[in-house]
Amino acid sequence: MKKPTYRQIILCGIVFVAVSGLLAWQTRAAPTLEEICADKAIECLTSPAGVVIGKPGSTAIYAGGVDRAADQFYQFFGEPAPRAAVVLGEVVDRSLRRRLRELYPVVLPWLTIQDRENMVAEGVRRQVRRQQPDIGEKALDAIVERSVEASLASSNTGSEDLHQGVFAHELGHLFFIRTFWPGEDLDVTEPNRMQLDRYAGPGPDWLDEMAAVLMENEALTAGREEGLTDANNAANDFEALWPLEEYFDMQHPAFDQAKRVIQARQNTAQGRARGGVVMLSREDLENGDDGRSPAMFYSQSRGFADFMIERTGNQRIFATIARDIAAGGTMSGWLAREGAAMALPSNINQLESEFWRWLANRYKDQPLSSSSSHPHT
Ligand SMILES: [Zn+2]
Repeated sequence: MKKPTYRQIILCGIVFVAVSGLLAWQTRAAPTLEEICADKAIECLTSPAGVVIGKPGSTAIYAGGVDRAADQFYQFFGEPAPRAAVVLGEVVDRSLRRRLRELYPVVLPWLTIQDRENMVAEGVRRQVRRQQPDIGEKALDAIVERSVEASLASSNTGSEDLHQGVFAHELGHLFFIRTFWPGEDLDVTEPNRMQLDRYAGPGPDWLDEMAAVLMENEALTAGREEGLTDANNAANDFEALWPLEEYFDMQHPAFDQAKRVIQARQNTAQGRARGGVVMLSREDLENGDDGRSPAMFYSQSRGFADFMIERTGNQRIFATIARDIAAGGTMSGWLAREGAAMALPSNINQLESEFWRWLANRYKDQPLSSSSSHPHT
């Protein structure tokens, strides 16, 4: 496994912007969480696994969300999830974010559904005003409303179920990196140039993505499985998926595209305020030179996780693998050494044959999927 020195953190979600007359505590040194939360312009939803910080009225839909992700992380990795602070939408004060990074091992900037709607609406409003300076307010509102609806319908991320699934997915990336590479002080609260060199944490991209996929809810999983059904129905020996040898060593197929988003963000203050987290929907994803869709990378991760867990009977098989890889190991080395004891083949070729066979059996006779879209993060 080659280990690039710098790769990049692209998660998903985006941090939007703005305002605050909110922060009276700013003038004092190093406020505690209690002091931060005492600000009337800020709402904190605290729980054993962490805190969600937003503007008043914005945190309730995340009740239990951080804890569910933390429980799921423990279930699959056998380690308590690092405590997390989630900073919602318009709370973007830099000093607050920096302070949270001192207080919490994981800090996730996160756009609420409302933030996303507002962002689309503002963009459309600006554009229409530019093109039709004389337009009346009513007509403008109608155009904005239609555009927001169309945009949310096409990206399909407006659904609360999917939104919660992606929320857990992103926490999964950060829990995983912080747990298995504890010295990695990654910061996704602001984009920075170093982040342009790698997709996520120091581990291989497939494992990073899989850790996140393992946190997903049923709504997201259904989309991943549609991909596997499609790959199986294509009757071309799973050409839509990557050979395992390549999969274990490859750069994330959405990396170049996500990198362009991060680069563009660095050019404006508003862009920088969105942080180092990128979300691309299936419609946005471009196929790679090999013709494969980056969406399949997520489906393959889902399939491979389920295959490995079922075959070994060990829900925490990826914790074992992650520890080995974090210590400098490779998947082929691990298989050669531990495969037999884990009821697995001892080389990648054989593992791949068994994986294809398992997929073909598991996803046989499934109806062709609809063309619904799911976020890839
Ligand atoms: Zn991801």
